[in-house]
Amino acid sequence: MASPARVDLDGNPIRPITICMIGAGGFIGSHLCEKLMAETPHKVLAVDVYSDKIKHLLEGPASLPWTDRIHFHRLNIKNDSRLEGLIKMSDLTINLAAICTPADYNTRPLDTIYSNFIDALPVVKYCSENNKRLIHFSTCEVYGKTIGSFLPTDHPMRQDPAYFILKEDASPCIFGPIEKQRWSYACAKQLIERLVYAEGAENGLEFTIVRPFNWIGPRMDFIPGIDGPSEGVPRVLACFSNNLLRHEPLKLVDGGQSQRTFVYIKDAIEAVLLMIENPARANGHIFNVGNPNNEVTVRQLAEMMTEVYSKVSGEPPLEAPTVDVSSKEFYGEGYDDSDKRIPDMTIINRQLGWNPKTSLWDLLESTLTYQHRTYAEAIKQVTSKPLAS
Ligand code: NAD
Ligand code: UDP
Repeated sequence: MASPARVDLDGNPIRPITICMIGAGGFIGSHLCEKLMAETPHKVLAVDVYSDKIKHLLEGPASLPWTDRIHFHRLNIKNDSRLEGLIKMSDLTINLAAICTPADYNTRPLDTIYSNFIDALPVVKYCSENNKRLIHFSTCEVYGKTIGSFLPTDHPMRQDPAYFILKEDASPCIFGPIEKQRWSYACAKQLIERLVYAEGAENGLEFTIVRPFNWIGPRMDFIPGIDGPSEGVPRVLACFSNNLLRHEPLKLVDGGQSQRTFVYIKDAIEAVLLMIENPARANGHIFNVGNPNNEVTVRQLAEMMTEVYSKVSGEPPLEAPTVDVSSKEFYGEGYDDSDKRIPDMTIINRQLGWNPKTSLWDLLESTLTYQHRTYAEAIKQVTSKPLAS
Protein backbone atom coordinates (compact mmCIF):
# COMPACT_ATOMS: atom_id res chain seq x y z
CA MET A 1 0.00 0.00 0.00
CA ALA A 2 1.38 3.47 -0.86
CA SER A 3 2.16 5.58 2.21
CA PRO A 4 -0.31 8.43 2.72
CA ALA A 5 0.68 11.81 1.20
CA ARG A 6 2.47 14.06 3.70
CA VAL A 7 0.52 17.23 4.41
CA ASP A 8 1.39 20.54 6.06
CA LEU A 9 -0.37 22.07 9.07
CA ASP A 10 -3.12 23.40 6.80
CA GLY A 11 -3.77 20.03 5.15
CA ASN A 12 -2.00 20.85 1.86
CA PRO A 13 0.27 18.18 0.30
CA ILE A 14 3.99 18.83 0.89
CA ARG A 15 6.00 19.18 -2.34
CA PRO A 16 9.56 17.73 -2.24
CA ILE A 17 12.12 20.55 -2.30
CA THR A 18 15.89 21.01 -2.55
CA ILE A 19 17.57 22.56 0.48
CA CYS A 20 21.00 24.19 0.49
CA MET A 21 22.13 23.59 4.09
CA ILE A 22 25.21 25.60 5.04
CA GLY A 23 26.92 24.25 8.18
CA ALA A 24 25.29 20.84 7.58
CA GLY A 25 28.30 19.06 9.10
CA GLY A 26 27.83 20.61 12.55
CA PHE A 27 25.79 19.54 15.57
CA ILE A 28 22.39 20.93 14.52
CA GLY A 29 23.04 20.31 10.81
CA SER A 30 23.78 16.62 11.37
CA HIS A 31 20.49 16.08 13.21
CA LEU A 32 18.54 18.06 10.64
CA CYS A 33 20.08 16.06 7.77
CA GLU A 34 19.23 12.81 9.57
CA LYS A 35 15.61 13.88 10.07
CA LEU A 36 15.20 15.07 6.47
CA MET A 37 16.65 11.85 5.09
CA ALA A 38 14.70 9.49 7.35
CA GLU A 39 11.30 11.16 7.30
CA THR A 40 10.91 13.37 4.23
CA PRO A 41 11.43 13.24 0.45
CA HIS A 42 13.50 16.47 0.38
CA LYS A 43 16.98 16.75 -1.16
CA VAL A 44 19.91 18.31 0.71
CA LEU A 45 22.96 20.03 -0.74
CA ALA A 46 25.08 19.79 2.41
CA VAL A 47 27.73 22.52 2.60
CA ASP A 48 30.49 22.51 5.22
CA VAL A 49 34.24 22.28 5.67
CA TYR A 50 33.78 19.10 7.75
CA SER A 51 31.64 16.02 7.14
CA ASP A 52 32.50 13.66 10.04
CA LYS A 53 29.15 14.13 11.80
CA ILE A 54 27.16 13.21 8.66
CA LYS A 55 29.51 10.50 7.37
CA HIS A 56 26.92 7.83 8.28
CA LEU A 57 24.46 9.46 5.87
CA LEU A 58 26.97 10.03 3.05
CA GLU A 59 28.81 6.69 3.12
CA GLY A 60 26.08 4.17 3.84
CA PRO A 61 25.33 1.32 1.41
CA ALA A 62 23.77 2.34 -1.94
CA SER A 63 20.59 0.60 -0.83
CA LEU A 64 19.87 3.33 1.74
CA PRO A 65 16.68 5.16 0.76
CA TRP A 66 18.43 8.56 0.76
CA THR A 67 21.64 7.91 -1.22
CA ASP A 68 20.52 10.16 -4.08
CA ARG A 69 19.02 12.81 -1.86
CA ILE A 70 22.07 14.08 0.02
CA HIS A 71 25.23 15.47 -1.57
CA PHE A 72 28.16 16.91 0.32
CA HIS A 73 29.93 20.04 -0.96
CA ARG A 74 33.16 20.68 0.94
CA LEU A 75 33.54 24.42 0.78
CA ASN A 76 34.34 27.41 2.95
CA ILE A 77 31.66 30.03 2.38
CA LYS A 78 34.21 32.79 3.09
CA ASN A 79 35.79 32.44 -0.29
CA ASP A 80 34.09 30.03 -2.66
CA SER A 81 32.31 31.13 -5.80
CA ARG A 82 30.32 27.86 -5.94
CA LEU A 83 28.04 29.10 -3.14
CA GLU A 84 25.74 31.20 -5.32
CA GLY A 85 25.23 28.32 -7.76
CA LEU A 86 24.19 25.99 -4.93
CA ILE A 87 21.72 28.57 -3.57
CA LYS A 88 20.29 29.05 -7.09
CA MET A 89 19.80 25.27 -7.47
CA SER A 90 17.78 25.13 -4.22
CA ASP A 91 14.30 26.18 -3.16
CA LEU A 92 15.38 26.99 0.38
CA THR A 93 18.69 27.90 2.04
CA ILE A 94 19.31 27.15 5.72
CA ASN A 95 22.34 28.93 7.16
CA LEU A 96 23.83 27.29 10.25
CA ALA A 97 27.48 28.18 9.65
CA ALA A 98 29.01 30.16 12.50
CA ILE A 99 31.61 30.31 15.22
CA CYS A 100 29.28 29.77 18.18
CA THR A 101 31.41 28.58 21.13
CA PRO A 102 31.70 31.09 24.02
CA ALA A 103 35.40 30.28 24.55
CA ASP A 104 36.01 31.85 21.11
CA TYR A 105 34.01 35.06 21.57
CA ASN A 106 36.60 36.92 23.63
CA THR A 107 39.74 35.07 22.46
CA ARG A 108 38.95 35.21 18.69
CA PRO A 109 36.64 38.24 18.50
CA LEU A 110 37.56 39.09 14.89
CA ASP A 111 36.87 35.57 13.62
CA THR A 112 33.62 35.60 15.62
CA ILE A 113 32.41 38.87 14.09
CA TYR A 114 33.47 37.84 10.57
CA SER A 115 31.90 34.42 10.83
CA ASN A 116 28.57 35.59 12.25
CA PHE A 117 28.13 38.76 10.23
CA ILE A 118 30.47 39.29 7.25
CA ASP A 119 30.47 35.66 6.04
CA ALA A 120 26.67 35.48 6.29
CA LEU A 121 26.20 38.58 4.11
CA PRO A 122 26.61 36.89 0.70
CA VAL A 123 24.18 34.16 1.76
CA VAL A 124 21.49 36.76 2.49
CA LYS A 125 22.33 38.66 -0.71
CA TYR A 126 22.17 35.59 -2.98
CA CYS A 127 18.85 34.52 -1.46
CA SER A 128 17.39 38.00 -1.87
CA GLU A 129 18.65 38.49 -5.45
CA ASN A 130 17.50 35.06 -6.57
CA ASN A 131 14.13 35.12 -4.74
CA LYS A 132 15.04 32.13 -2.60
CA ARG A 133 13.64 31.48 0.84
CA LEU A 134 16.11 31.70 3.77
CA ILE A 135 16.01 30.15 7.25
CA HIS A 136 18.77 31.89 9.18
CA PHE A 137 20.10 30.58 12.49
CA SER A 138 20.60 33.33 15.03
CA THR A 139 20.78 32.79 18.82
CA CYS A 140 18.98 33.44 22.11
CA GLU A 141 22.14 35.31 23.05
CA VAL A 142 20.81 38.32 21.08
CA TYR A 143 18.66 39.06 24.15
CA GLY A 144 21.84 39.41 26.24
CA LYS A 145 21.12 40.06 29.90
CA THR A 146 17.63 40.18 31.42
CA ILE A 147 16.11 43.47 32.60
CA GLY A 148 15.78 41.89 36.06
CA SER A 149 19.55 41.34 36.31
CA PHE A 150 19.98 45.09 36.85
CA LEU A 151 17.72 45.05 39.95
CA PRO A 152 19.14 44.40 43.45
CA THR A 153 19.44 40.64 44.11
CA ASP A 154 16.60 40.56 46.65
CA HIS A 155 14.27 42.93 44.74
CA PRO A 156 10.74 41.41 44.49
CA MET A 157 10.37 42.48 40.83
CA ARG A 158 13.07 39.92 39.97
CA GLN A 159 10.35 37.29 40.45
CA ASP A 160 8.05 39.02 37.92
CA PRO A 161 8.19 37.23 34.52
CA ALA A 162 7.96 40.63 32.79
CA TYR A 163 11.55 41.16 33.97
CA PHE A 164 13.06 37.94 32.65
CA ILE A 165 10.92 36.11 30.03
CA LEU A 166 12.41 36.69 26.57
CA LYS A 167 9.90 37.63 23.86
CA GLU A 168 10.83 37.89 20.20
CA ASP A 169 8.71 40.99 19.50
CA ALA A 170 9.03 42.85 22.79
CA SER A 171 12.23 42.18 24.77
CA PRO A 172 15.19 44.54 24.43
CA CYS A 173 18.69 43.28 23.53
CA ILE A 174 20.97 44.19 26.46
CA PHE A 175 24.70 43.69 25.97
CA GLY A 176 27.64 44.57 28.22
CA PRO A 177 30.39 47.08 27.40
CA ILE A 178 32.63 46.74 24.31
CA GLU A 179 35.61 45.51 26.36
CA LYS A 180 33.49 42.52 27.40
CA GLN A 181 34.10 40.87 24.03
CA ARG A 182 31.73 38.01 24.86
CA TRP A 183 29.03 40.23 23.35
CA SER A 184 30.72 40.47 19.93
CA TYR A 185 28.92 37.25 18.96
CA ALA A 186 25.51 38.51 20.11
CA CYS A 187 26.08 41.85 18.41
CA ALA A 188 27.11 40.26 15.09
CA LYS A 189 24.09 37.93 15.22
CA GLN A 190 21.81 40.87 16.02
CA LEU A 191 23.10 42.89 13.06
CA ILE A 192 22.64 39.99 10.62
CA GLU A 193 19.09 39.50 11.98
CA ARG A 194 18.41 43.18 11.30
CA LEU A 195 19.84 42.85 7.81
CA VAL A 196 17.71 39.78 7.02
CA TYR A 197 14.67 41.59 8.37
CA ALA A 198 15.46 44.69 6.27
CA GLU A 199 15.86 42.53 3.11
CA GLY A 200 12.38 41.22 3.87
CA ALA A 201 10.94 44.69 4.42
CA GLU A 202 12.59 46.44 1.45
CA ASN A 203 13.16 43.69 -1.10
CA GLY A 204 10.59 41.04 -0.21
CA LEU A 205 13.06 38.33 0.97
CA GLU A 206 11.10 35.38 2.37
CA PHE A 207 12.87 34.63 5.65
CA THR A 208 12.58 32.88 8.99
CA ILE A 209 14.97 33.58 11.87
CA VAL A 210 15.60 30.89 14.51
CA ARG A 211 16.83 31.73 18.01
CA PRO A 212 18.00 28.45 19.62
CA PHE A 213 18.00 28.31 23.43
CA ASN A 214 20.74 25.81 24.42
CA TRP A 215 19.92 22.84 22.19
CA ILE A 216 21.85 19.83 23.46
CA GLY A 217 22.28 16.16 22.60
CA PRO A 218 24.60 13.61 20.97
CA ARG A 219 27.31 14.91 18.60
CA MET A 220 27.45 18.34 20.23
CA ASP A 221 30.93 19.84 19.83
CA PHE A 222 33.86 17.55 20.69
CA ILE A 223 35.67 15.83 23.52
CA PRO A 224 39.06 17.56 23.97
CA GLY A 225 41.98 15.28 23.09
CA ILE A 226 39.70 12.66 21.49
CA ASP A 227 37.93 14.23 18.51
CA GLY A 228 39.01 17.82 19.06
CA PRO A 229 42.04 19.79 20.27
CA SER A 230 43.30 18.93 23.80
CA GLU A 231 43.30 22.58 24.80
CA GLY A 232 39.91 23.32 23.17
CA VAL A 233 36.98 24.51 25.31
CA PRO A 234 33.62 23.34 23.90
CA ARG A 235 30.15 24.30 25.20
CA VAL A 236 29.02 23.23 28.65
CA LEU A 237 27.52 19.83 27.72
CA ALA A 238 30.81 18.66 26.17
CA CYS A 239 32.94 20.26 28.92
CA PHE A 240 31.01 18.45 31.64
CA SER A 241 30.89 15.19 29.62
CA ASN A 242 34.67 15.38 29.24
CA ASN A 243 35.12 15.88 32.99
CA LEU A 244 32.81 12.94 33.77
CA LEU A 245 34.51 10.64 31.27
CA ARG A 246 37.92 11.49 32.76
CA HIS A 247 36.72 11.26 36.38
CA GLU A 248 37.61 14.90 37.02
CA PRO A 249 35.48 17.43 38.94
CA LEU A 250 33.16 19.54 36.78
CA LYS A 251 34.34 23.16 36.63
CA LEU A 252 31.74 25.74 37.68
CA VAL A 253 32.52 29.11 36.15
CA ASP A 254 31.98 31.91 38.71
CA GLY A 255 30.14 29.48 40.98
CA GLY A 256 27.74 28.12 38.31
CA GLN A 257 25.02 30.62 39.25
CA SER A 258 23.92 31.44 35.67
CA GLN A 259 20.64 29.90 34.60
CA ARG A 260 19.84 28.17 31.33
CA THR A 261 16.93 26.26 29.81
CA PHE A 262 18.05 23.18 27.87
CA VAL A 263 16.06 21.59 25.04
CA TYR A 264 16.67 18.16 23.53
CA ILE A 265 18.04 18.43 20.00
CA LYS A 266 15.44 15.97 18.68
CA ASP A 267 12.56 18.14 19.99
CA ALA A 268 14.12 21.27 18.51
CA ILE A 269 14.63 19.64 15.10
CA GLU A 270 10.87 18.95 14.97
CA ALA A 271 10.36 22.72 15.19
CA VAL A 272 12.78 23.34 12.31
CA LEU A 273 11.02 20.74 10.16
CA LEU A 274 7.71 22.52 10.78
CA MET A 275 9.31 25.79 9.61
CA ILE A 276 10.67 24.10 6.48
CA GLU A 277 7.35 22.55 5.54
CA ASN A 278 5.02 25.42 6.51
CA PRO A 279 6.50 28.46 4.77
CA ALA A 280 3.26 30.44 4.85
CA ARG A 281 3.21 30.14 8.64
CA ALA A 282 6.96 30.60 9.18
CA ASN A 283 7.91 33.36 6.74
CA GLY A 284 8.53 36.81 8.22
CA HIS A 285 8.83 35.41 11.75
CA ILE A 286 11.54 35.18 14.39
CA PHE A 287 11.12 32.06 16.54
CA ASN A 288 12.44 31.27 20.01
CA VAL A 289 13.09 27.52 20.11
CA GLY A 290 13.72 26.22 23.62
CA ASN A 291 12.19 24.44 26.58
CA PRO A 292 11.01 26.85 29.32
CA ASN A 293 10.30 23.89 31.64
CA ASN A 294 13.92 22.72 31.72
CA GLU A 295 15.48 25.61 33.66
CA VAL A 296 18.46 24.97 35.96
CA THR A 297 21.49 26.82 37.24
CA VAL A 298 24.77 25.58 35.78
CA ARG A 299 25.52 24.15 39.24
CA GLN A 300 22.26 22.15 39.17
CA LEU A 301 23.09 20.97 35.64
CA ALA A 302 26.47 19.72 36.92
CA GLU A 303 24.82 17.89 39.80
CA MET A 304 22.21 16.27 37.56
CA MET A 305 24.81 15.25 34.95
CA THR A 306 26.93 13.69 37.70
CA GLU A 307 23.97 11.65 38.92
CA VAL A 308 22.83 10.60 35.44
CA TYR A 309 26.36 9.69 34.35
CA SER A 310 26.84 7.51 37.39
CA LYS A 311 23.59 5.71 36.52
CA VAL A 312 24.43 5.10 32.84
CA SER A 313 28.11 4.22 33.35
CA GLY A 314 27.74 2.25 36.58
CA GLU A 315 30.68 4.26 38.02
CA PRO A 316 30.30 5.96 41.42
CA PRO A 317 30.52 9.78 41.43
CA LEU A 318 33.58 11.55 42.84
CA GLU A 319 33.40 12.61 46.47
CA ALA A 320 33.85 16.25 45.40
CA PRO A 321 32.11 16.27 41.97
CA THR A 322 32.46 20.02 41.24
CA VAL A 323 35.08 22.73 41.63
CA ASP A 324 34.68 26.52 41.32
CA VAL A 325 36.80 28.44 38.80
CA SER A 326 36.81 32.13 37.92
CA SER A 327 35.65 33.13 34.44
CA LYS A 328 38.99 34.91 33.89
CA GLU A 329 40.87 31.70 34.64
CA PHE A 330 38.53 29.55 32.50
CA TYR A 331 37.79 31.82 29.51
CA GLY A 332 40.27 34.72 29.86
CA GLU A 333 39.82 38.50 30.02
CA GLY A 334 36.63 39.92 28.50
CA TYR A 335 34.25 37.08 29.39
CA ASP A 336 30.79 37.98 30.60
CA ASP A 337 27.64 35.89 30.90
CA SER A 338 23.92 35.76 30.16
CA ASP A 339 22.23 35.52 33.56
CA LYS A 340 18.99 33.74 32.67
CA ARG A 341 17.28 32.55 29.48
CA ILE A 342 13.63 31.56 29.49
CA PRO A 343 12.00 31.63 26.04
CA ASP A 344 8.48 32.94 25.56
CA MET A 345 6.71 30.33 23.42
CA THR A 346 3.66 32.31 22.26
CA ILE A 347 4.75 32.90 18.66
CA ILE A 348 6.00 29.39 17.86
CA ASN A 349 2.92 27.94 19.54
CA ARG A 350 0.54 30.12 17.57
CA GLN A 351 2.27 29.77 14.18
CA LEU A 352 3.44 26.15 14.27
CA GLY A 353 1.74 24.52 17.28
CA TRP A 354 5.16 23.31 18.46
CA ASN A 355 5.99 22.36 22.05
CA PRO A 356 9.09 20.64 23.46
CA LYS A 357 8.49 17.22 25.06
CA THR A 358 11.64 15.88 26.72
CA SER A 359 12.53 16.56 30.36
CA LEU A 360 16.08 17.52 31.29
CA TRP A 361 16.64 14.22 33.11
CA ASP A 362 15.50 12.16 30.09
CA LEU A 363 17.53 14.13 27.57
CA LEU A 364 20.63 13.86 29.75
CA GLU A 365 20.09 10.13 30.14
CA SER A 366 20.02 9.50 26.40
CA THR A 367 22.83 11.98 25.70
CA LEU A 368 25.18 10.68 28.40
CA THR A 369 24.47 7.10 27.36
CA TYR A 370 25.69 8.15 23.88
CA GLN A 371 28.74 9.98 25.32
CA HIS A 372 29.72 6.95 27.43
CA ARG A 373 29.26 4.49 24.54
CA THR A 374 31.14 6.71 22.09
CA TYR A 375 34.06 7.95 24.19
CA ALA A 376 34.67 5.92 27.39
CA GLU A 377 36.98 3.39 25.70
CA ALA A 378 38.98 6.04 23.82
CA ILE A 379 39.46 8.04 27.04
CA LYS A 380 40.61 4.93 28.87
CA GLN A 381 43.25 4.30 26.20
CA VAL A 382 44.51 7.89 26.21
CA THR A 383 44.67 8.12 30.00
CA SER A 384 46.35 4.73 30.45
CA LYS A 385 49.23 5.57 28.03
CA PRO A 386 52.52 5.90 29.95
CA LEU A 387 53.91 9.45 29.96
CA ALA A 388 56.91 9.93 27.63
CA SER A 389 60.10 10.17 29.70
P1 NAD B 1 28.38 23.79 15.08
O1 NAD B 1 29.66 24.51 15.33
O2 NAD B 1 28.29 22.37 15.51
O3 NAD B 1 28.03 23.85 13.53
C1 NAD B 1 28.38 24.92 12.68
C2 NAD B 1 28.93 24.31 11.39
O4 NAD B 1 29.20 25.39 10.47
C3 NAD B 1 30.26 23.57 11.61
O5 NAD B 1 30.18 22.24 11.10
C4 NAD B 1 31.28 24.39 10.85
O6 NAD B 1 32.30 23.60 10.23
C5 NAD B 1 30.40 25.07 9.79
N1 NAD B 1 31.02 26.31 9.29
C6 NAD B 1 31.43 27.36 10.03
N2 NAD B 1 31.98 28.30 9.23
C7 NAD B 1 31.92 27.82 7.97
C8 NAD B 1 32.34 28.32 6.72
N3 NAD B 1 32.97 29.51 6.63
N4 NAD B 1 32.11 27.58 5.60
C9 NAD B 1 31.49 26.37 5.72
N5 NAD B 1 31.08 25.83 6.87
C10 NAD B 1 31.29 26.55 7.99
O7 NAD B 1 27.20 24.66 15.76
P2 NAD B 1 25.66 24.29 15.99
O8 NAD B 1 25.45 24.12 17.44
O9 NAD B 1 25.24 23.25 15.04
O10 NAD B 1 24.99 25.70 15.62
C11 NAD B 1 24.45 25.99 14.34
C12 NAD B 1 23.88 27.41 14.34
O11 NAD B 1 22.94 27.57 15.41
C13 NAD B 1 24.93 28.52 14.55
O12 NAD B 1 24.60 29.60 13.72
C14 NAD B 1 24.77 28.91 15.99
O13 NAD B 1 25.13 30.26 16.22
C15 NAD B 1 23.29 28.68 16.22
N6 NAD B 1 23.01 28.40 17.64
C16 NAD B 1 23.11 27.14 18.16
C17 NAD B 1 22.82 26.93 19.50
C18 NAD B 1 22.82 25.57 20.12
O14 NAD B 1 22.21 25.43 21.17
N7 NAD B 1 23.42 24.55 19.56
C19 NAD B 1 22.48 28.00 20.33
C20 NAD B 1 22.43 29.28 19.78
C21 NAD B 1 22.68 29.46 18.42
N1 UDP C 1 30.21 26.72 31.99
C1 UDP C 1 30.73 26.18 33.18
N2 UDP C 1 31.68 25.21 33.08
C2 UDP C 1 32.13 24.72 31.90
C3 UDP C 1 31.60 25.25 30.69
C4 UDP C 1 30.63 26.24 30.79
O1 UDP C 1 30.36 26.61 34.29
O2 UDP C 1 33.00 23.80 31.92
C5 UDP C 1 29.11 27.74 32.08
C6 UDP C 1 29.31 29.02 31.27
O3 UDP C 1 30.07 29.97 32.00
C7 UDP C 1 27.88 29.46 31.05
C8 UDP C 1 27.11 28.14 30.92
O4 UDP C 1 27.96 27.14 31.50
O5 UDP C 1 27.41 30.14 32.21
C9 UDP C 1 26.74 27.72 29.50
O6 UDP C 1 27.88 27.77 28.69
P1 UDP C 1 27.91 27.32 27.15
O7 UDP C 1 29.33 27.33 26.73
O8 UDP C 1 27.20 26.04 26.95
O9 UDP C 1 27.16 28.44 26.33
P2 UDP C 1 26.18 29.67 26.61
O10 UDP C 1 24.89 29.13 27.11
O11 UDP C 1 26.85 30.59 27.60
O12 UDP C 1 26.06 30.31 25.27
